[in-house]
Amino acid sequence: MDSNYDVVVIGAGPSGSVCSALLHKAGVKCVVIEKEEFPRFVIGESLLPYCNHILEEAGFFEAVKTHGFQYKNGAAFSWGNEYRYFDFCDKSSKGWGTTYQVQRADFDKLLIDEAIKQGVEVHFKTTVENVEFSENGAKISLDNGKTINAKFVIDASGYGRVLPRILDLETPSCLVPRKAYFTHIQDNITEILYDRKKILITTHPVHRGVWFWLIPFSNGRCSVGVVGSAEILDARTLADLPNDEKLKHFVYEAPMLKRLLNNTAWDTPVRTINSYSKDVKKLYGDKFILLGNASEFLDPVFSSGVTIAMHSAKLASQCVSKIVKGQNVNLEEEYAKPLMGGINAFRTYVQGWYEETFQDVIYTKNENFDAKRQICSILAGYAWDTSNNFVTRSDEALAAVAKYAKM
Ligand SMILES: Cc1cc2nc3c(=O)[nH]c(=O)nc-3n(C[C@H](O)[C@H](O)[C@H](O)COP(=O)(O)OP(=O)(O)OC[C@H]3O[C@@H](n4cnc5c(N)ncnc54)[C@H](O)[C@@H]3O)c2cc1C
Repeated sequence: MDSNYDVVVIGAGPSGSVCSALLHKAGVKCVVIEKEEFPRFVIGESLLPYCNHILEEAGFFEAVKTHGFQYKNGAAFSWGNEYRYFDFCDKSSKGWGTTYQVQRADFDKLLIDEAIKQGVEVHFKTTVENVEFSENGAKISLDNGKTINAKFVIDASGYGRVLPRILDLETPSCLVPRKAYFTHIQDNITEILYDRKKILITTHPVHRGVWFWLIPFSNGRCSVGVVGSAEILDARTLADLPNDEKLKHFVYEAPMLKRLLNNTAWDTPVRTINSYSKDVKKLYGDKFILLGNASEFLDPVFSSGVTIAMHSAKLASQCVSKIVKGQNVNLEEEYAKPLMGGINAFRTYVQGWYEETFQDVIYTKNENFDAKRQICSILAGYAWDTSNNFVTRSDEALAAVAKYAKM
C-alpha cells in the first residue's frame, strides 16, 4: 500500500466498487479500504433495472449477467386475496426493464473482484478508524497502524457511517423508526403459478404498516423478511418468542405466504435490524462526499437501496475525478441536488406506502394505465427521469392518482 492517493474510498459494497471502478477509468489514483473479508453477508437482494445501466458503465454487467443470478422482471403485491403486479418492461422511461435478484455475499464479491481485475487497488480486512482533514487533504488512520494521505475521501461505508460519525453529520430520518426480521430459506414452493421472476411484497392482513418481502434466488432458496414498527413486531404477547418463531408467526398470518411457504425449510438463523432509516446533515464537504447508505437510507419497501447507492457512486465519480484534477465543481449543483431529486421521489412513495395512499393505488380495481406506466418507471429505479411527472411532481401525482384509485 502506498501512502499517497488522490482518493480513498471507504467500503467495498456496491457504492464503493462502482465508484472506484469509474474513478480508475477516469485515471484517478484511488484505493478501497474494506473492513471485512469478502464474501460477507449484507441484506438488500432485489435490484432494480436502472442498476444495469450503471453496472454497464462500470464494466461489471457482463460478469453479473453470466453469473447465474435469478432473473427479475417486476414486482408483485399481495394483500389478502388481492394480487397485483408491475411488469418493469411496461414502464414509461426508456431503458432496461429486467434485472436480477442476488445473494449479496456473491454479488458484492463479484463487483469488487471485477474492479480489482480492472486495476483498482483494494485492501480487505482493514478498517478505517479515523479521518483528519487539513488544507491539503485528509489523513486516514487504519486499524493496522498505517496512515494514508489523500486529496479526497469517499465514504461508502454503509451502516459503518464512518464520516457521519467522525464529523457529527448524523441527523434523524424523517421516516418513523421501523425494524425488520429476515432470513434465507429453502423455500420448497410448488405452486405452479408462483412467479419467481418477481419480488413479492405482501401487506399484512390486519396491520397495513406491516409488510413482507419474498425474494426468490435461482437456487431454490428465498430471502424472506417482515418489516414494521417495533410496537407491533415486538408486541408484549410475542415477547417470549425467539426471533425465528416471531418471523414465522407473522409470515403465516399472511394467506398467500402461508400457502406458498407451507413446505419451507427454515434452516438459517433469523437476523434483525432496528431503526434502519438514516439521514445526514449534508452529503459532501470540501474534501469528502458520502455515498449510498453512508448518506441517507430510506426504507427497503421498493428495493431502492442498491440503486440509490450506485447512482450516488456514478454522480460522485464524475465530480471527484474533476476535483482531484484541479477543476472547479459545485457539489451542491452537480451532486446533492441531482441525487436528492430521485431520493425525494422514492421518499414520496415510501411515505405514501405507510400512509396507505400508495397501497390504495397499488391494490385499486380502478387502474389508470398511463399512471401505472409512470409509477412502474419509479419502481424500476428510473427515479431520476425528469420527463416523468411522478418523479418531478411526485407528491401531487401521488395525491391525484390516490384520489382516482378511491373512486
Ligand atoms: C431490511 C433491509 C432490506 C433491504 N432490501 C433491499 C433490497 O431488496 N434491494 C436494495 O436495493 N436494497 C435493499 N436494502 C438496502 C441495501 O442493503 C443498501 O442500500 C446497500 O447495501 C447500500 O450499499 P452501500 O454500498 O452504500 O453499503 P454496503 O453494501 O453496506 O457496504 C458498505 C461496506 O463498507 C464496509 N465498512 C464499514 N465500515 C468500514 C470501515 N470503518 N472501514 C472500512 N470498511 C468499512 C462494510 O464492511 C461494507 O462492506 C435493504 C436494507 C434493509 C435494512
